[in-house]
Amino acid sequence: MKGFAMLKIGEVGWIEKDRPKCGPRDAIVRPTALAPCTSDVHTVWEGAIGDRHNMILGHEAVGIVDEVGDEVKDFKPGDRVIVPAITPDWDSEAVQRGYPSQTGGPCGGWKYSNFKDGVFGEYFHVNLADNNLAHLPEGMSQEAAVMITDMMSTGFMGAENAGIELGSTVAVLGIGAVGLCGVAGAKLLGAGRIFAVGTRPISVEVAKKYGATDIISYKNGDTADQILEATDGVGVDGVIVSGGGPEILLDALKMAKAGSKISNNNYFGKGQGEKDTIPLCRVNWGFGMADKDIITGLCPGGRTRMERLADLVTYGRMDPELMVTHTFKGFDKIEDALELMREKPRDLIKPVVLLE
Ligand code: NAD
Ligand code: ZN
Repeated sequence: MKGFAMLKIGEVGWIEKDRPKCGPRDAIVRPTALAPCTSDVHTVWEGAIGDRHNMILGHEAVGIVDEVGDEVKDFKPGDRVIVPAITPDWDSEAVQRGYPSQTGGPCGGWKYSNFKDGVFGEYFHVNLADNNLAHLPEGMSQEAAVMITDMMSTGFMGAENAGIELGSTVAVLGIGAVGLCGVAGAKLLGAGRIFAVGTRPISVEVAKKYGATDIISYKNGDTADQILEATDGVGVDGVIVSGGGPEILLDALKMAKAGSKISNNNYFGKGQGEKDTIPLCRVNWGFGMADKDIITGLCPGGRTRMERLADLVTYGRMDPELMVTHTFKGFDKIEDALELMREKPRDLIKPVVLLE
Protein backbone atom coordinates (compact mmCIF):
# COMPACT_ATOMS: atom_id res chain seq x y z
CA MET A 1 0.00 0.00 0.00
CA LYS A 2 0.96 3.64 -0.49
CA GLY A 3 1.73 6.09 2.31
CA PHE A 4 3.12 9.58 2.76
CA ALA A 5 6.12 9.32 5.04
CA MET A 6 8.96 10.99 6.87
CA LEU A 7 12.01 9.57 5.08
CA LYS A 8 14.43 11.17 7.54
CA ILE A 9 14.69 14.50 9.39
CA GLY A 10 13.82 17.24 6.90
CA GLU A 11 12.64 14.90 4.13
CA VAL A 12 9.21 13.54 3.21
CA GLY A 13 7.92 11.43 0.32
CA TRP A 14 5.59 8.68 -0.91
CA ILE A 15 6.57 5.12 -0.03
CA GLU A 16 5.24 1.56 -0.47
CA LYS A 17 4.65 -0.56 2.63
CA ASP A 18 2.88 -3.80 3.47
CA ARG A 19 -0.69 -3.43 4.67
CA PRO A 20 -0.59 -3.58 8.50
CA LYS A 21 -1.58 -6.84 10.22
CA CYS A 22 -4.58 -6.98 12.53
CA GLY A 23 -4.19 -8.51 16.02
CA PRO A 24 -7.13 -10.20 17.82
CA ARG A 25 -8.22 -7.02 19.64
CA ASP A 26 -7.22 -4.59 16.87
CA ALA A 27 -8.68 -3.07 13.72
CA ILE A 28 -7.46 -1.98 10.30
CA VAL A 29 -9.04 1.26 9.13
CA ARG A 30 -9.19 2.92 5.71
CA PRO A 31 -9.08 6.70 6.17
CA THR A 32 -11.81 8.87 4.65
CA ALA A 33 -10.63 12.24 5.99
CA LEU A 34 -7.23 13.32 7.28
CA ALA A 35 -5.59 16.42 8.69
CA PRO A 36 -1.92 17.29 9.08
CA CYS A 37 -0.84 18.62 12.48
CA THR A 38 1.70 21.25 13.47
CA SER A 39 3.31 18.35 15.35
CA ASP A 40 4.01 16.62 11.99
CA VAL A 41 5.95 19.76 11.06
CA HIS A 42 7.93 19.70 14.33
CA THR A 43 8.60 15.99 13.84
CA VAL A 44 9.85 16.23 10.25
CA TRP A 45 11.49 19.61 9.92
CA GLU A 46 12.71 20.18 13.47
CA GLY A 47 13.51 16.54 14.21
CA ALA A 48 11.80 17.15 17.54
CA ILE A 49 11.44 13.50 18.55
CA GLY A 50 14.66 12.37 16.91
CA ASP A 51 15.19 10.68 13.60
CA ARG A 52 12.54 8.45 12.05
CA HIS A 53 13.10 6.55 8.80
CA ASN A 54 10.37 5.75 6.26
CA MET A 55 7.65 6.20 8.86
CA ILE A 56 4.19 7.05 7.52
CA LEU A 57 3.10 10.41 8.96
CA GLY A 58 -0.20 11.66 10.34
CA HIS A 59 -2.31 11.07 13.45
CA GLU A 60 -5.61 12.85 12.72
CA ALA A 61 -8.12 10.66 10.87
CA VAL A 62 -11.65 9.43 10.52
CA GLY A 63 -12.33 6.39 8.41
CA ILE A 64 -14.11 3.14 7.70
CA VAL A 65 -13.27 -0.09 9.51
CA ASP A 66 -11.84 -2.58 6.99
CA GLU A 67 -10.98 -5.50 9.25
CA VAL A 68 -11.33 -6.39 12.95
CA GLY A 69 -9.70 -9.06 15.10
CA ASP A 70 -11.68 -12.02 16.53
CA GLU A 71 -12.01 -10.48 19.97
CA VAL A 72 -13.35 -7.06 18.91
CA LYS A 73 -16.96 -6.69 20.10
CA ASP A 74 -18.30 -3.24 19.19
CA PHE A 75 -16.93 -2.58 15.70
CA LYS A 76 -17.26 -4.41 12.39
CA PRO A 77 -16.07 -3.84 8.82
CA GLY A 78 -17.97 -0.97 7.21
CA ASP A 79 -18.42 1.05 10.43
CA ARG A 80 -17.51 4.73 10.19
CA VAL A 81 -15.20 5.70 13.01
CA ILE A 82 -13.37 8.55 14.70
CA VAL A 83 -9.77 7.56 15.50
CA PRO A 84 -8.08 9.38 18.39
CA ALA A 85 -4.60 10.74 17.74
CA ILE A 86 -3.55 9.04 20.97
CA THR A 87 -4.26 5.31 21.26
CA PRO A 88 -3.09 4.14 24.71
CA ASP A 89 -2.45 0.59 25.87
CA TRP A 90 -5.41 0.51 28.22
CA ASP A 91 -4.10 -2.37 30.31
CA SER A 92 -0.87 -0.61 31.25
CA GLU A 93 0.45 0.62 34.57
CA ALA A 94 0.32 4.31 33.52
CA VAL A 95 -3.42 3.95 32.81
CA GLN A 96 -3.99 2.53 36.27
CA ARG A 97 -2.34 5.62 37.70
CA GLY A 98 -4.55 7.85 35.56
CA TYR A 99 -2.16 8.85 32.76
CA PRO A 100 -3.19 6.95 29.63
CA SER A 101 -1.34 9.28 27.26
CA GLN A 102 1.96 8.37 28.95
CA THR A 103 1.79 4.59 28.58
CA GLY A 104 5.19 2.99 28.06
CA GLY A 105 7.20 6.18 28.72
CA PRO A 106 6.83 9.93 28.10
CA CYS A 107 4.18 10.53 25.40
CA GLY A 108 4.04 6.75 24.76
CA GLY A 109 0.29 6.81 24.08
CA TRP A 110 1.15 8.74 20.94
CA LYS A 111 1.90 5.92 18.53
CA TYR A 112 0.96 7.18 15.07
CA SER A 113 3.91 8.82 13.36
CA ASN A 114 5.93 8.39 16.52
CA PHE A 115 6.45 4.66 17.19
CA LYS A 116 4.47 3.17 14.32
CA ASP A 117 3.16 4.12 10.90
CA GLY A 118 0.64 6.94 11.01
CA VAL A 119 -2.69 7.47 9.32
CA PHE A 120 -1.45 8.95 5.99
CA GLY A 121 -1.55 5.49 4.41
CA GLU A 122 -4.17 3.62 2.41
CA TYR A 123 -4.79 1.62 5.59
CA PHE A 124 -3.63 1.97 9.18
CA HIS A 125 -3.61 -0.14 12.33
CA VAL A 126 -5.60 0.61 15.51
CA ASN A 127 -4.56 -1.16 18.71
CA LEU A 128 -7.35 -2.18 21.12
CA ALA A 129 -10.19 -1.23 18.79
CA ASP A 130 -12.95 -1.41 21.42
CA ASN A 131 -11.05 1.10 23.56
CA ASN A 132 -9.54 3.30 20.89
CA LEU A 133 -12.27 3.78 18.28
CA ALA A 134 -15.50 5.74 18.51
CA HIS A 135 -18.47 5.45 16.16
CA LEU A 136 -18.91 8.50 13.94
CA PRO A 137 -22.25 9.97 15.02
CA GLU A 138 -25.01 10.09 12.43
CA GLY A 139 -25.00 13.45 10.65
CA MET A 140 -21.57 14.62 11.82
CA SER A 141 -19.39 15.95 9.00
CA GLN A 142 -15.99 14.43 8.39
CA GLU A 143 -14.41 17.88 8.76
CA ALA A 144 -15.88 18.31 12.24
CA ALA A 145 -15.01 14.74 13.25
CA VAL A 146 -11.37 14.96 12.23
CA MET A 147 -10.97 18.13 14.34
CA ILE A 148 -12.04 16.12 17.40
CA THR A 149 -9.19 13.58 17.16
CA ASP A 150 -6.41 15.94 18.25
CA MET A 151 -7.23 19.67 18.08
CA MET A 152 -10.30 19.57 20.32
CA SER A 153 -8.91 16.95 22.63
CA THR A 154 -5.61 18.81 23.09
CA GLY A 155 -7.01 22.34 23.29
CA PHE A 156 -9.73 21.29 25.73
CA MET A 157 -7.10 19.51 27.84
CA GLY A 158 -5.25 22.85 27.88
CA ALA A 159 -8.33 24.44 29.41
CA GLU A 160 -8.97 21.53 31.80
CA ASN A 161 -5.39 21.70 33.11
CA ALA A 162 -5.55 25.48 33.63
CA GLY A 163 -7.69 25.04 36.76
CA ILE A 164 -10.50 27.20 35.45
CA GLU A 165 -13.31 28.03 37.87
CA LEU A 166 -16.49 30.03 37.25
CA GLY A 167 -15.41 33.58 36.53
CA SER A 168 -11.67 32.85 36.23
CA THR A 169 -9.55 35.12 34.10
CA VAL A 170 -7.63 33.13 31.52
CA ALA A 171 -5.02 33.93 28.88
CA VAL A 172 -4.53 31.73 25.82
CA LEU A 173 -1.10 32.26 24.25
CA GLY A 174 -1.21 31.22 20.60
CA ILE A 175 -4.49 30.85 18.71
CA GLY A 176 -3.88 28.26 16.03
CA ALA A 177 -6.36 25.40 16.14
CA VAL A 178 -5.10 24.12 19.52
CA GLY A 179 -5.30 27.55 21.19
CA LEU A 180 -8.72 28.21 19.66
CA CYS A 181 -9.97 25.02 21.26
CA GLY A 182 -8.34 26.29 24.48
CA VAL A 183 -10.49 29.43 24.18
CA ALA A 184 -13.63 27.37 23.52
CA GLY A 185 -12.80 25.00 26.39
CA ALA A 186 -12.17 27.92 28.78
CA LYS A 187 -15.56 29.35 27.92
CA LEU A 188 -17.31 26.00 28.41
CA LEU A 189 -15.60 25.58 31.80
CA GLY A 190 -16.93 28.96 32.92
CA ALA A 191 -14.08 31.43 32.53
CA GLY A 192 -15.13 35.07 32.85
CA ARG A 193 -12.54 37.07 30.97
CA ILE A 194 -10.58 35.30 28.23
CA PHE A 195 -7.54 36.94 26.64
CA ALA A 196 -6.65 35.45 23.26
CA VAL A 197 -3.11 36.27 22.19
CA GLY A 198 -2.54 36.11 18.45
CA THR A 199 -2.42 38.03 15.22
CA ARG A 200 -3.79 36.01 12.28
CA PRO A 201 -7.08 37.80 11.38
CA ILE A 202 -8.87 34.51 10.68
CA SER A 203 -7.83 33.14 14.09
CA VAL A 204 -8.87 36.35 15.82
CA GLU A 205 -12.29 36.11 14.20
CA VAL A 206 -12.79 32.50 15.34
CA ALA A 207 -11.39 33.26 18.81
CA LYS A 208 -14.12 35.86 19.29
CA LYS A 209 -16.76 33.37 18.14
CA TYR A 210 -15.38 30.80 20.61
CA GLY A 211 -15.60 33.22 23.53
CA ALA A 212 -12.50 35.45 23.67
CA THR A 213 -13.35 38.73 25.38
CA ASP A 214 -10.01 40.49 24.70
CA ILE A 215 -7.58 40.14 21.80
CA ILE A 216 -3.90 40.88 22.41
CA SER A 217 -1.27 41.02 19.68
CA TYR A 218 2.16 39.80 20.76
CA LYS A 219 3.51 41.90 17.93
CA ASN A 220 2.36 45.09 19.74
CA GLY A 221 4.80 44.69 22.62
CA ASP A 222 5.41 42.42 25.58
CA THR A 223 2.38 40.15 25.92
CA ALA A 224 2.57 39.88 29.69
CA ASP A 225 2.85 43.65 30.12
CA GLN A 226 -0.23 44.16 27.96
CA ILE A 227 -2.23 41.65 30.00
CA LEU A 228 -0.96 43.00 33.32
CA GLU A 229 -1.96 46.48 32.26
CA ALA A 230 -5.43 45.31 31.21
CA THR A 231 -5.90 43.60 34.60
CA ASP A 232 -4.61 46.55 36.70
CA GLY A 233 -1.40 44.71 37.44
CA VAL A 234 -3.17 41.64 38.89
CA GLY A 235 -2.60 39.08 36.11
CA VAL A 236 -4.55 35.95 35.28
CA ASP A 237 -5.74 32.81 37.10
CA GLY A 238 -4.82 30.45 34.30
CA VAL A 239 -2.60 30.48 31.22
CA ILE A 240 -3.03 28.08 28.32
CA VAL A 241 0.20 27.93 26.29
CA SER A 242 -0.44 26.85 22.71
CA GLY A 243 2.01 28.66 20.47
CA GLY A 244 5.51 30.09 20.27
CA GLY A 245 8.83 28.62 21.34
CA PRO A 246 10.08 27.72 24.84
CA GLU A 247 10.62 31.38 25.76
CA ILE A 248 6.83 31.81 25.79
CA LEU A 249 6.88 30.29 29.28
CA LEU A 250 8.56 33.53 30.38
CA ASP A 251 5.44 35.47 29.29
CA ALA A 252 3.22 32.94 31.02
CA LEU A 253 5.09 33.16 34.34
CA LYS A 254 5.05 36.95 34.24
CA MET A 255 1.28 37.26 33.78
CA ALA A 256 0.33 34.40 36.15
CA LYS A 257 -1.02 35.25 39.64
CA ALA A 258 -0.09 33.28 42.74
CA GLY A 259 -2.17 30.12 42.69
CA SER A 260 -2.41 30.12 38.92
CA LYS A 261 -1.92 27.19 36.64
CA ILE A 262 0.17 27.45 33.49
CA SER A 263 -1.12 24.72 31.23
CA ASN A 264 1.22 23.83 28.42
CA ASN A 265 0.02 22.31 25.15
CA ASN A 266 3.09 23.19 23.14
CA TYR A 267 5.33 20.64 21.53
CA PHE A 268 8.68 22.33 21.98
CA GLY A 269 10.70 21.39 18.91
CA LYS A 270 14.40 21.69 18.14
CA GLY A 271 17.32 20.20 19.99
CA GLN A 272 17.86 16.82 21.57
CA GLY A 273 19.42 15.47 24.70
CA GLU A 274 19.35 16.14 28.41
CA LYS A 275 21.23 19.43 28.15
CA ASP A 276 18.64 20.99 25.84
CA THR A 277 16.56 23.03 28.29
CA ILE A 278 13.55 25.34 28.51
CA PRO A 279 13.91 28.78 30.20
CA LEU A 280 11.99 29.84 33.31
CA CYS A 281 12.32 33.31 34.87
CA ARG A 282 13.64 32.89 38.41
CA VAL A 283 12.14 36.20 39.64
CA ASN A 284 8.68 35.79 38.10
CA TRP A 285 8.65 32.22 39.39
CA GLY A 286 9.26 33.58 42.90
CA PHE A 287 12.75 32.02 42.96
CA GLY A 288 10.96 28.68 42.59
CA MET A 289 8.43 29.46 45.35
CA ALA A 290 5.68 31.51 43.69
CA ASP A 291 2.80 29.00 43.81
CA LYS A 292 2.65 29.07 40.03
CA ASP A 293 2.23 25.54 38.69
CA ILE A 294 3.36 24.54 35.22
CA ILE A 295 1.27 21.61 34.02
CA THR A 296 2.02 19.60 30.90
CA GLY A 297 -0.07 17.11 29.02
CA LEU A 298 -0.35 15.11 25.85
CA CYS A 299 -3.65 15.03 24.00
CA PRO A 300 -6.05 12.63 25.78
CA GLY A 301 -7.04 9.74 23.54
CA GLY A 302 -9.28 6.72 23.64
CA ARG A 303 -12.91 6.01 22.94
CA THR A 304 -14.65 7.74 25.85
CA ARG A 305 -12.79 10.99 25.25
CA MET A 306 -13.79 10.93 21.56
CA GLU A 307 -17.43 10.16 22.42
CA ARG A 308 -17.62 13.00 24.91
CA LEU A 309 -16.05 15.51 22.55
CA ALA A 310 -18.39 14.30 19.80
CA ASP A 311 -21.32 15.05 22.13
CA LEU A 312 -20.09 18.63 22.52
CA VAL A 313 -20.32 18.94 18.75
CA THR A 314 -23.59 17.04 18.34
CA TYR A 315 -25.36 19.08 21.00
CA GLY A 316 -24.19 22.42 19.69
CA ARG A 317 -21.63 23.42 22.35
CA MET A 318 -18.75 23.62 19.90
CA ASP A 319 -18.47 24.08 16.15
CA PRO A 320 -15.03 22.77 15.13
CA GLU A 321 -15.69 23.32 11.43
CA LEU A 322 -14.99 27.04 11.95
CA MET A 323 -11.32 26.03 12.15
CA VAL A 324 -11.26 24.25 8.79
CA THR A 325 -10.05 26.95 6.39
CA HIS A 326 -8.72 24.76 3.57
CA THR A 327 -10.15 21.56 2.08
CA PHE A 328 -8.27 19.26 -0.29
CA LYS A 329 -9.74 16.30 -2.19
CA GLY A 330 -7.85 13.07 -2.87
CA PHE A 331 -5.12 10.98 -1.28
CA ASP A 332 -2.35 12.56 -3.37
CA LYS A 333 -3.17 15.96 -1.83
CA ILE A 334 -1.77 14.95 1.58
CA GLU A 335 1.57 16.35 0.51
CA ASP A 336 0.10 19.77 -0.35
CA ALA A 337 -1.85 19.90 2.92
CA LEU A 338 1.27 19.16 4.97
CA GLU A 339 3.28 21.72 3.02
CA LEU A 340 0.56 24.29 3.74
CA MET A 341 0.78 23.43 7.43
CA ARG A 342 4.50 24.02 7.26
CA GLU A 343 4.15 27.38 5.47
CA LYS A 344 1.30 28.65 7.71
CA PRO A 345 -0.13 31.34 5.39
CA ARG A 346 -2.11 34.00 7.21
CA ASP A 347 -5.50 32.70 6.05
CA LEU A 348 -4.84 29.20 7.40
CA ILE A 349 -6.08 27.64 10.60
CA LYS A 350 -6.39 23.99 9.62
CA PRO A 351 -6.48 22.06 6.34
CA VAL A 352 -8.45 18.84 5.88
CA VAL A 353 -7.94 16.23 3.15
CA LEU A 354 -11.17 14.47 2.11
CA LEU A 355 -10.67 11.04 0.55
CA GLU A 356 -14.27 10.41 -0.50
P1 NAD B 1 -0.20 26.89 15.14
O1 NAD B 1 1.18 27.13 14.65
O2 NAD B 1 -1.31 26.86 14.15
O3 NAD B 1 -0.58 28.00 16.20
C1 NAD B 1 0.33 28.57 17.08
C2 NAD B 1 0.25 30.07 16.90
O4 NAD B 1 1.05 30.70 17.90
C3 NAD B 1 0.76 30.57 15.56
O5 NAD B 1 -0.26 31.32 14.93
C4 NAD B 1 1.95 31.44 15.92
O6 NAD B 1 2.07 32.54 15.07
C5 NAD B 1 1.56 31.87 17.32
N1 NAD B 1 2.66 32.41 18.14
C6 NAD B 1 4.00 32.34 17.91
N2 NAD B 1 4.66 33.00 18.88
C7 NAD B 1 3.73 33.47 19.73
C8 NAD B 1 3.80 34.24 20.91
N3 NAD B 1 4.96 34.64 21.41
N4 NAD B 1 2.64 34.54 21.55
C9 NAD B 1 1.44 34.12 21.05
N5 NAD B 1 1.32 33.40 19.92
C10 NAD B 1 2.45 33.08 19.28
O7 NAD B 1 -0.16 25.55 15.98
P2 NAD B 1 -1.32 24.57 16.49
O8 NAD B 1 -1.61 23.58 15.44
O9 NAD B 1 -2.44 25.35 17.06
O10 NAD B 1 -0.52 23.80 17.65
C11 NAD B 1 -0.03 24.51 18.77
C12 NAD B 1 1.03 23.71 19.48
O11 NAD B 1 0.45 22.55 20.07
C13 NAD B 1 2.13 23.18 18.55
O12 NAD B 1 3.37 23.26 19.23
C14 NAD B 1 1.74 21.74 18.36
O13 NAD B 1 2.81 20.93 17.97
C15 NAD B 1 1.24 21.42 19.73
N6 NAD B 1 0.39 20.25 19.86
C16 NAD B 1 0.49 19.58 21.02
C17 NAD B 1 -0.33 18.51 21.25
C18 NAD B 1 -0.31 17.83 22.58
O14 NAD B 1 -0.78 16.70 22.67
N7 NAD B 1 0.16 18.46 23.64
C19 NAD B 1 -1.23 18.08 20.28
C20 NAD B 1 -1.32 18.80 19.09
C21 NAD B 1 -0.51 19.90 18.89
ZN1 ZN C 1 -1.12 16.48 16.58
